[in-house]
Amino acid sequence: MDRESDVARATFFGLHALQHRGQESAGIAASNGRRIKVHADNGLVTQVFREEDLKVLTGHIAIGHNRYSTKGATRKYNVQPYLINGPGIEFAFGHNGNVINAGELRREMQEWGVTFRTSSDSEVIAHLFANAPGQTWGERAAYCMRRLKGAYSLVIMTNNELVGIRDPLGIRPLCIGRVNNGYVLASESCALDNLGATFERELDPGETVVITEDGVQSDIWSGTDRSTHSMCVFEHIYIARPDSTLAGKLAHRARQAMGRELAKMHPAEGDLVIGVPDSGISHAVGYSEESGIPYGEGLVKNRYVQRTFIQPDQAMRNLGVRLKFNPLRDVIEGKRIVVVDDSIVRGTTTPRIVEMLRKAGATEVHVRISAPPITSTCHFGVDMSTLDQLIAANNSIDEIRELIDADTLGFLDVDHLMRAVGVQDDSYCRGCFTGRYPIPVQLEMSKMELEEPMGVEGD
Ligand code: SF4
Repeated sequence: MDRESDVARATFFGLHALQHRGQESAGIAASNGRRIKVHADNGLVTQVFREEDLKVLTGHIAIGHNRYSTKGATRKYNVQPYLINGPGIEFAFGHNGNVINAGELRREMQEWGVTFRTSSDSEVIAHLFANAPGQTWGERAAYCMRRLKGAYSLVIMTNNELVGIRDPLGIRPLCIGRVNNGYVLASESCALDNLGATFERELDPGETVVITEDGVQSDIWSGTDRSTHSMCVFEHIYIARPDSTLAGKLAHRARQAMGRELAKMHPAEGDLVIGVPDSGISHAVGYSEESGIPYGEGLVKNRYVQRTFIQPDQAMRNLGVRLKFNPLRDVIEGKRIVVVDDSIVRGTTTPRIVEMLRKAGATEVHVRISAPPITSTCHFGVDMSTLDQLIAANNSIDEIRELIDADTLGFLDVDHLMRAVGVQDDSYCRGCFTGRYPIPVQLEMSKMELEEPMGVEGD
């Protein structure tokens, strides 16, 4: 952006568009070419930033971050962007993903004398970059890409540079666009649309882009191996907003295709297809198209029930489902309902929805899930880290059907899923469905692995 631009406000709107990727904390760092200022706190974007907070974040470059934790507690010291001071370098740093060898790297850097203030893997990555050998970001990234194992899409900002980095496996997305006379990096293209920016492309796995007043310089790490590219297929199924384009395909279209494949695999005798809002809707539309059963809205979602509010324990999660959804009795009553959702993780939401539909007068409830059963943990940035949390890791499909009290239940399988995404090769991670990961992993990991008493300031 040029030096007059209100970059903090643009970043605020970008974060707002990407709120679905993390609701625990939000933060923005801005540079005016001489110094970097950061404002970050726990909460949603609109709770963290008031007008006066944005006004002081002046400058020509900014980065922002919404946190969804897969490593480290929801504590104020873990909010990003971090401001990092290394030998001869200062930068602000934001990370999406999860690195599986963070504990070992942290111990190594502690021996070098590095002090850690947080309990997240993100700070380990940041300090590795701060202490990496090399004069350029490409050289630093080459060192870090050799050392880091896992998922990391990064935005880094010095006083005069904006840097974007995508890990060599390309697990989490990162794209670049143009706006006025500047550039924007974002996890998803929907943020570029909201800013009126033009989507240019997704960063390649192993790529580092450095944006300065002179333009964009790109570097691909020489150790990047195309045959190991492993984008997270769960981005297509659930994580990304339906209006984002991933790997060249609109998420809504991929989800519609999944719904169609699901209808071929698991037809149902029903009068009405409904989707669980919001992320089940595109899948349900596809199911309806393929099956010929009419689609209708049967559940209304209160969009203002915050995830953080409903998460603390199981009782609150159960209450949260009732606060979040309300069935349309007039639409449901007397009908055989086919309800389509994107996935079942813990199995908390689905039985409540089936119960709601029955209470609203559904004569039969057929549940169709537009993803395979999640039978393994995720190690790369989705909070499914222990097997005991996963309903499909501990129950057969028929047992799940009983637990959720559905008349019938059907899941998509991996082959039909990949057909819907449009790939038949191994260029995607689907580890949570198959137990086979792009790199070796320890089968269960603790989210609090790096949470140790070390003099960090609490919130
Ligand atoms: S394990 Fe599943 S959720 Fe995790 S990165 Fe792989 S596909 Fe995505």
